[in-house]
Amino acid sequence: PDHPATGSLRSGAGLPADDAAPAVLTVENIHKRFAALEVLRGISLTARTGDVIAVLGSSGSGKSTFLRCLNFLETPSAGRIWVHGEEVRTRRDRAGALRPADSRQLTRLRARVGMVFQQFNLWPHMSVLDNLIEAPRRVRGLPKRECVEKAEALLEKVGLAERRDYYPAHLSGGQQQRAAIARTLAMDPEVILFDEPTSALDPELVGEVLGVIGALAEEGRTMLIVTHEIGFARDVSTRALFLDEGRVEEDGPPDILFTNPDSDRLRRFLARHL
Ligand code: ADP
Ligand code: MG
Repeated sequence: PDHPATGSLRSGAGLPADDAAPAVLTVENIHKRFAALEVLRGISLTARTGDVIAVLGSSGSGKSTFLRCLNFLETPSAGRIWVHGEEVRTRRDRAGALRPADSRQLTRLRARVGMVFQQFNLWPHMSVLDNLIEAPRRVRGLPKRECVEKAEALLEKVGLAERRDYYPAHLSGGQQQRAAIARTLAMDPEVILFDEPTSALDPELVGEVLGVIGALAEEGRTMLIVTHEIGFARDVSTRALFLDEGRVEEDGPPDILFTNPDSDRLRRFLARHL
């Protein structure tokens, strides 16, 4: 069967994660500037175990840049980041820009923060199975047999067991994105960042990918999900953020944020996307 396991959405949707749950990812007052353009203007956030945080915002509001900072694909211009209480070490270069200070720490921490991209980003020259075992083998140094067993179980979970030897080009967009999610899971991340995971898909393929992400939410995975799928975000999130011009314009329980937003901008955003 080529279908992901889907189930009812988590019953706890709308409830914030326990305040005492461990902080998985914390950012404090991060800024990001590209030359004269200040894209992030002071964002603070703590994601706790079991949080499913929907991140909303118009195009250009800084959503991707924010996620890329959380996965260390970008270094913030200012601010601090902790993964499970361990602060990411940075230093200032001669021009005064913040740089990663410890590439080994970065590699280690990045393995704990998974990312799923809009364009899937599978390695085109590798089979689906090889895409899944590459990072666990190279980054974590796990034995091949163990990686293959785990990869097969994950492909089963996302409904792609029969596609393990296919190359990405021979899969539909929805299958590629499900493979990309399985690849991220293969690293046992403690938090998964999704950057518009269904925006590149034909409409009829969106549901199968949302089904997989919804099942992960139901398992209690900690996730941040940038999406314009408002109905889905409302159903699976425990908390929602609205970014506007690089700032958190609203942050709260989905019940309130989606139905009775404070800001006019969020109201207009929701009207455009519902
Ligand atoms: P979103 O994901 O919300 O659409 P982005 O984070 O991709 O927003 O982009 C926010 C702003 O930052 C945009 O104006 C974009 O052009 C700019 N930007 C993003 N990445 C870069 C970069 N590497 N260099 C220069 N500008 C960038
Ligand atoms: Mg984006």
